[in-house]
This record gives sequence, C-alpha cells and structure tokens, in this order.
Amino acid sequence: MRIEDGGAPGLNGLPVAEGMSISHWLQTVRSDPLLDHRTTRDLPDSAEAVVIGSGILSNEGETLEALIDYVRTNDVQCDLWTGKTLDVLMDTESASVAAKTFTAFAAAGGDTSKVEVTTTPAEAAKKSRLPGAQAAYAWDAATLHPWKLVAHVIRQCLDLGLNLQTWTPATTITGSAGQWIVHTPRGAITATTVIHATNAYAGALLPEIRGIIEPMPHMCNRVIPPSTFSGSQALQNSYAVIYKDALYSVNPRSTSDGNILIGGSAKNIDRLREYVDEKVDRKTDDRLVDFEPITTSVRQLCDTGFQWDSDLGRRGAPVRYDHAWSGILGMSADTVPFVGTVPGKHGQWMCCGHNGHGMARIFTCAPALAKLIGGATWADTELPDCFQVTKQRLAWLATVVSGVDIRASL
Ligand SMILES: Cc1cc2nc3c(=O)[nH]c(=O)nc-3n(C[C@H](O)[C@H](O)[C@H](O)COP(=O)(O)OP(=O)(O)OC[C@H]3O[C@@H](n4cnc5c(N)ncnc54)[C@H](O)[C@@H]3O)c2cc1C
Repeated sequence: MRIEDGGAPGLNGLPVAEGMSISHWLQTVRSDPLLDHRTTRDLPDSAEAVVIGSGILSNEGETLEALIDYVRTNDVQCDLWTGKTLDVLMDTESASVAAKTFTAFAAAGGDTSKVEVTTTPAEAAKKSRLPGAQAAYAWDAATLHPWKLVAHVIRQCLDLGLNLQTWTPATTITGSAGQWIVHTPRGAITATTVIHATNAYAGALLPEIRGIIEPMPHMCNRVIPPSTFSGSQALQNSYAVIYKDALYSVNPRSTSDGNILIGGSAKNIDRLREYVDEKVDRKTDDRLVDFEPITTSVRQLCDTGFQWDSDLGRRGAPVRYDHAWSGILGMSADTVPFVGTVPGKHGQWMCCGHNGHGMARIFTCAPALAKLIGGATWADTELPDCFQVTKQRLAWLATVVSGVDIRASL
C-alpha cells in the first residue's frame, strides 16, 4: 500500500509510501493487473465490512494439508512443490540439542512417525548434499508462490462481490460500535465490521497493540545456483540449515525457475537489529535491499555449507548472489499471533502478529476468524487458546513488554 498524502514514509508505523524493495514474488508478476486493482474508481461511502491489509492471511500440519488440498482442487497455478524438507544440523552442538528435543517431544506424546531421522554424519551429508552435516531430520512439506496463491483467492472473492482498493492506506479509525469510520487519503468509509489484517503494522491503527506487536525488517536473498547444482543436479528438498548460532531457510523454486531463496536467521542478524535500532522509522522501512552483513552470511553458507564457491562449484556457471529484499515481520511479545475480536471495540477484529511464520498458519487462522465473525465460539475455531486476543492477554503483555526483547525469538 502507498500513502499518497499521508506524510513522511514509515512514520506512525504505517507501510512506507514509496521506494519499497520488491520481493521475488512481486518481481515475477509485474504485469498482473491485480497489482493496482480498484474495483470502483472512488471509495464507497459505506460497506458491511472493511478488511484493512491482508497479505497472505492450528497448527501447522493442518495448514499444510488444507493448503495443498485447496491448490490442487482449484488448480491454482502457484508453483506448488511438495516433498521432503530437511532440518540439517551442521555442528555437534546443534545436533545434540536437536536429538534431545526430538526425544523429549516423542516422550511427551508427540507424533514422530512421519519424521525420517539420520544421525550418522556421513549419511546426513550424503542425503542433504551438505558436507559437514552431523544429522538430518526429514518430513513432508510444501513450497509455493504466495502472491500467486493470494491473487487466486482474491480473484475468487472479486467474483463473489469483493470491492478491492489497492494503494489505499487506512490512516485512522474513529466512531463507535455499529458505525466505525475508516479514514484514508481517498476518503472515509463507514462499516459495522472492520477486520485488521495488517500484521506488523497493527499498532498504527490499534494503539492498544503498540509494543505488543512490533514491526521488524527481515531479509531474503535470491541465489542462482551454479551449474553443478542445476538441471538434473538441482536441489530436491527445501531446508533449514542449522548451526549453533544461525538457522538458514533454503527454498529452491523447484517447479519454476530453480532460483534458491535463502532467509531465516543468518549469522549476522544482530547487525540488522543494530541498524534498525539506530532509527525508529527503520522498523517499518522495507526499502532496504542487499543488506551486506546478511548477504555475507548467505555467501558463507553457500561457500562453506554447500561448497558452491569451491572448485566443485566452479565447473560451468558459478553461483550468483542476485538480489536481496526486505519485508516487515510482525513480532508479538509472546511469540504467537493475535486472532479474534479487539477487546472493547465491538465490531473490530484482528488476525495479526504472525512472527515471520504466517505462511504456515494463516490458512487456518483466517477461516477461524471468519467463523468467529459469523458467531462461532473460540472452541469452534480449533485454534490453540494462546492465539486468542483477550483483554487479560493484552493487559499482561502491556505490563511486561517494556522489558522483553521480542526479537530474541527470531
Ligand atoms: C523475508 C521474509 C521471509 C519470510 N519467510 C517466511 C517463511 O518461510 N515462512 C512463513 O511462514 N512466513 C515467512 N515470512 C512471514 C510471512 O511473510 C508473514 O507471516 C505473512 O506475510 C503475514 O501475512 P499477513 O497477511 O498477515 O501480513 P502481510 O503479508 O504483512 O500483509 C499485511 C498487509 O497489510 C498492509 N497494511 C498494513 N497496514 C495498513 C494500513 N493501515 N492500511 C492499508 N494497508 C495496510 C501492508 O501493506 C501489507 O500489504 C517471511 C517474511 C519475510 C519478510
């Protein structure tokens, strides 16, 4: 969203107005008319319900099944890949922690039947193609092009009568229960129901959530693999490559261009935090590209982990570190999302604070919110209780939040 006359970029916790970095997802759909769609030229004066935001909006196993089922049933063209993801432990310390955690999870009754465990270093290295791997845990997973999936859902909603207004930031909400007024630079719109799907930016419109959900920039690097890891030799898995001081998420675009997207918590993530801490506006500033300390860590992973810069990697085309963009994570003080009614604001609802993990949760959180708005009880949603927004949860977090560094959980 762009703030057309809403003041300086990034102020008040709203999305920046211009110059935002462009993710791999948005780079690959530049000609899609949905990017600047406005169903009506002018904003309507009123609506039954206004949804503010919404990017990609259980537990995670259900989300995986529900997502794959939706994509296949509706034949959504969103580069779906299904297969095994590998958690690869790269040093003895992290391998030992993983083994203990896995044993404790099983002892507590957790279902480990679908996890393939490899604890012999030589086998782990062969399976993962990461020389130096100490252990590997594999289970079913999927990757896809989130923008294409969301675009498909939005087009379905447009067919059902949705009025979509892109590039229209909501700047404030006034009024009271039964008649909320959402203000934008293009006019105001009145509604009985307002849904905050603003994730990291929730605090800009909901003062009660400020500090409890904190925006935090995060980087993702696009890497073009060398010839030795392309074609029939391309990576066949997605990964979490885990060191005692870092976790890299490695996602090859296996069913499309074969580029590899590398995110997660790189070794130099502290440098990003220090950069953000220097200026409060940087918390919502997604204009950041190619943040060098993170790119350096990604190069190290490819060099010392996959060994793409070694002689092996130099046969044919070398690895290319192509582009890195930023997005804004919504970090909540208790590390779980906020789903439900906004306490004391009857008719306002929220699904925000996804802690950099929304893709694995939103496909079940958003339908749960729709059920609640339709009159269902929390128990009907089947979401964990800790996701529910309650007055008590907000009050408790408000008292502790000033002493909590929520980014430590990144
Ligand atoms: C680099 C990076 C890598 C990630 N990798 C993963 C991953 O591997 N797995 C995973 O599960 N998750 C990942 N995430 C997190 C995931 O992208 C988010 O959890 C998810 O996008 C949240 O979806 P959302 O719809 O709630 O919010 P968002 O996608 O953040 O969308 C919120 C939207 O609301 C708009 N908005 C905000 N305020 C206003 C306002 N006042 N008026 C109008 N519009 C507004 C914003 O412009 C934005 O478009 C990653 C995030 C980043 C940045």
